[in-house]
Amino acid sequence: MHQDIERVLISEQELAARIAELGKQVAADYADKDPIFLGILKGVVMFFSDMIRATPIQCQIDFMAVSSYGGGTSTSGKVRMLKDVSVDLRGRHVVILEDILDSGVTLSHVCAHLREMGPASLKICTLLDKPSRRQTDVKADYVGFTIPNEFVVGYGLDYDEHYRNLPYVGILKPEVYTK
Ligand code: 5GP
Ligand code: MG
Ligand code: MG
Repeated sequence: MHQDIERVLISEQELAARIAELGKQVAADYADKDPIFLGILKGVVMFFSDMIRATPIQCQIDFMAVSSYGGGTSTSGKVRMLKDVSVDLRGRHVVILEDILDSGVTLSHVCAHLREMGPASLKICTLLDKPSRRQTDVKADYVGFTIPNEFVVGYGLDYDEHYRNLPYVGILKPEVYTK
């Protein structure tokens, strides 16, 4: 285990098993809809690549990049769009893939922006959900794991752009972000 990790919250095996289930569910719901899986960079990278391989149906993929954090461990409340979508969403079934739904500020901005593009439907699939922290009425349609209010890293999620490459979701030692 990495020296800055206090404990593993979700192991590689648990991630793989849950994503296999989620993929089956999404595949059944979207089998004939040729959906667009829209990943929100960068935190979603690992979940995205595992999730679309677990969803073996006709589909397209695209990405957006947004930033709301800067270097801290909670949202700044301001959402900056760094990269917009690059395919036409009009009339399409869009499934947003996200790493974690926390305050909901990021996804409420993203959803409002995407709705203006006239998709046929818009749903949210998040690997992690921290419902206790919600400040908006955003709800995920598919959730991998509901987790307690702790700051997690790994499997795509960062602290100050580090730890994204850990293959599990872990809890950082508090001294790492209080120093
Ligand atoms: P929200 O706008 O819902 O507060 O935050 C969403 C974004 O904040 C996530 O996509 C993620 O980038 C970041 N975030 C929220 N909670 C955590 C966490 O526990 N760990 C990490 N690394 N990022 C988080
Ligand atoms: Mg994210
Ligand atoms: Mg981050």
